[in-house]
Amino acid sequence: MKKDMNHPSINEESCSNETPVYKQIQTPFKAVFPGKYIQGENALHELPGLVNLLGKKGLLIASPTVIKKILPDYSFQDSEAMISIEEFQGECCEKELTRLSEIVNRENFEVIIGMGGGKTIDTAKIVSDRAGIPVIIVPTIASTDAPCSGCAVIYTNDGIFESVYYQKMNPQVVLVDMTIIAAAPTRFLVAGMGDALATWFEARSCERTQSLNECGGYSTMTGLNLARLCYDTLLRYGSAAKISSENHIVTPVLNHIVEANILLSGLGFESSGLAAAHSVHNGLTAIEETHSYYHGEKVAFGVLTGLHLTDAPMEEISTVYSFCEEIGLPTTFSDIGLKELSKTRLMEAAVKACAPAEGIHHEAGIITPGKVLNAMIAADAMGKARKLTTK
Ligand SMILES: [Zn+2]
Repeated sequence: MKKDMNHPSINEESCSNETPVYKQIQTPFKAVFPGKYIQGENALHELPGLVNLLGKKGLLIASPTVIKKILPDYSFQDSEAMISIEEFQGECCEKELTRLSEIVNRENFEVIIGMGGGKTIDTAKIVSDRAGIPVIIVPTIASTDAPCSGCAVIYTNDGIFESVYYQKMNPQVVLVDMTIIAAAPTRFLVAGMGDALATWFEARSCERTQSLNECGGYSTMTGLNLARLCYDTLLRYGSAAKISSENHIVTPVLNHIVEANILLSGLGFESSGLAAAHSVHNGLTAIEETHSYYHGEKVAFGVLTGLHLTDAPMEEISTVYSFCEEIGLPTTFSDIGLKELSKTRLMEAAVKACAPAEGIHHEAGIITPGKVLNAMIAADAMGKARKLTTK
């Protein structure tokens, strides 16, 4: 082949003083997933088969409510797998983690099952990770997107946040029994939609600013598009799913929303990243009056704040407010327990939201507590104004 002398090929010698481009370490694209995701009516009956698949001898860590109200309806006796039940003592703290780890080591359990709400699930994840054995997660409410993720939160014995624990791998199985989820109070499902509502907006911000996601890489097309599907699913089926939940019936729309809350939002946040909404949530936890409100309820107010902070299109802001109003997510300060709070106290939340490690810095431009405070006030004011006009 004749060499084109006008376009000499680039060779290593031509840039020998620098590291060749192909040898430089680039931040990779990263995405993480649970091994299996199973969702359906009476899906808990699959549990013995899954335990058997992963190791025969399973320890089921269950919340007191699960032991009292759910497990009596299920029998695992006829199966080949051996499942022992251990009651969760209420806090995901070192004391409880040590107690359960000792049981696992003493009895040589090969699989852990975590069944209940967020803290039971987090405890099961950490105990299994420390023991180096698989974990099956069985969420009994769809109030957050934590079940599929590979991280968990450790608290002190008194329930104060201590640290985030990252597991080596995401859960081997997430098993969602729709019969159990449909029987739970509707406020959990709505809060889950609040948590899921943040996923697309935070993913989009991380993509725009090329910020790292929760697994330390750049967002894949997969992560970003699942985050978008999560948002579209909420808008399409959210209010209908709420009606199903209020009537405690499993319907196709409830299935869609539970999948959005647990699977799509879980994959979306971990593989595409966090931004303003969760930082505003974290900031709000500094104010005691918000403590009785669920994670997803505070995150929803964080989404509205984020939209005002980032100058989102007015049509989009209007769509998100309408969605929140329709399903009963907070749109004002008083909806999250903050009535007539001084600017000084609100500023505490804004400062905490802007701590250096917070995802809010994944938003474009320089984010300051002053800007966040104004965005929170704007979010509340618009929420109030809309409530007045729709009365
Ligand atoms: Zn969340």
